[in-house]
Amino acid sequence: MKAIDQIYIDGAFVTPHGTERFDLFNPATEEKIGKVRLGDAEDAHAAIAAAKRAFPAMRRTSPAERIEMLHALRDAVAARAEALTEAMATEYGAPQSFLAFSVPYAAGVFEMAARTVADYAFTRRIGNTDVIMEPVGVAAAITPWNSDIGFICSKLATAIAAGTSIVIKPSEMSALQTQAVTEALHAAGLPRGVLNIVNGYGHVVGTALTQSPDIAKISFTGSTATGRTILRSAAETFKRVTLELGGKGPQILLDDADLDQAIPHILTSAFRNSGQACIAGTRLLVPAHRYEEVSSHLAAAVSALKAGPSSDPASDIGPMVSAKQWERVQSYIRLGQEEGATLLAGGEGRPEGQDRGWFVRPTVFAGVTNEMRIAREEIFGPVLSVIAYRDEAEAIAIANDTDYGLQSYVLGTDVDRMRRVARELEAGRVVLNEAPMDPRAPFGGFKHSGIGREFGAFGLEAFLEPKAILG
Ligand code: NAD
Repeated sequence: MKAIDQIYIDGAFVTPHGTERFDLFNPATEEKIGKVRLGDAEDAHAAIAAAKRAFPAMRRTSPAERIEMLHALRDAVAARAEALTEAMATEYGAPQSFLAFSVPYAAGVFEMAARTVADYAFTRRIGNTDVIMEPVGVAAAITPWNSDIGFICSKLATAIAAGTSIVIKPSEMSALQTQAVTEALHAAGLPRGVLNIVNGYGHVVGTALTQSPDIAKISFTGSTATGRTILRSAAETFKRVTLELGGKGPQILLDDADLDQAIPHILTSAFRNSGQACIAGTRLLVPAHRYEEVSSHLAAAVSALKAGPSSDPASDIGPMVSAKQWERVQSYIRLGQEEGATLLAGGEGRPEGQDRGWFVRPTVFAGVTNEMRIAREEIFGPVLSVIAYRDEAEAIAIANDTDYGLQSYVLGTDVDRMRRVARELEAGRVVLNEAPMDPRAPFGGFKHSGIGREFGAFGLEAFLEPKAILG
């Protein structure tokens, strides 16, 4: 049993004022693996005060100094890859394919931020005016439990790139990963107070951050419902807000798609991170005349996926993060059947051979209409809905008929056509076939999937204020 009894304020691990404790579990075994002592509002205020003290010096750093800090952070995270991976495997149970990607990603965000700083014009002349891009002020980040290490690192990287200090409130459910990454970040030797990390509940520590007049910027990743609460709370003090929220991404399979190539991409997009991904493509739109063919390919491919623990390299799908999340996914699988959809693969209950752990069966529903709740609501588990369309115009209409607009996918062979369809989609990002993500490109949502963008110069500018000096 691991006891996490400290939070990170002003460059040091300190005992929080808060005394409440939260149990941590291994989702692959359901065993209790530790307890975290949570911070409270007083701890949040201490962290904000430390960040505020650090801000004036941070604001005056040169881009070269910030690049040096970002490189130190990159190296510190990369050097602790083993401890970080182990924490993620224990607390999160993610498949090895996901773990293999996560730590290089976390280290890589610092490298990318350093390159962005190197290329960015923080001052420029427009006519008679000097335009100076200044850091927005002390920032706060609030992050979710899925891929916690990556979110902590990417938000810290942007704050440092912009020249500001930050208070981070990670999810209470990922305290083991938070502890491992905080130890790594501490080793980078940032000036005191530039980074502060406070475990705690959202309604306690999160609210203290969103209400504080000393926080100028909130960068939030999490659910749409919480994003709405944060936006309201931040309005009181006119905070700059970036929200990365939920999704219900469409995958449009065009009628010229080659199924041997498309099916693996469909599975990766739908079941990435065991379906616990905001960018999951959970609505597959299929031309009506290829519906039977696609359904039989999918049924075979999904039935062959293996749910199992991180320790088994053959596992494709890991457990859900908590008993609550397991129940939630089960309830959507029941709902799909009640709504009249047909199970093509998977279904309720545990996968064969997994009588412990919060594992669910990777599930595909056929005969889904876009009006069904399983097609409209974010499930956050490995559940894919297959919807038929008549022609391209109808596919685009169904794809856009959602409150969300985070990441969409287009699969086919004619690149010009795929680009044309992509331009019609209401989404912050559209992936054509297997195209990899370029971290310099913007990431964020249309509609209820968020406000603002992260990554590259777009993400940097969300932490900056332009100042015009005339004359
Ligand atoms: P959540 O909204 O429940 O919690 C996210 C964070 O917000 C946690 O740290 C939580 O403690 C905090 N929080 C909760 N209530 C708060 C309040 N009133 N004030 C301030 N902070 C508060 O989300 P979750 O369940 O941890 O994560 C899953 C959700 O995150 C999904 O909806 C998913 O789509 C979304 N997500 C989005 C992205 C993206 O980049 N768009 C990435 C990953 C996850």
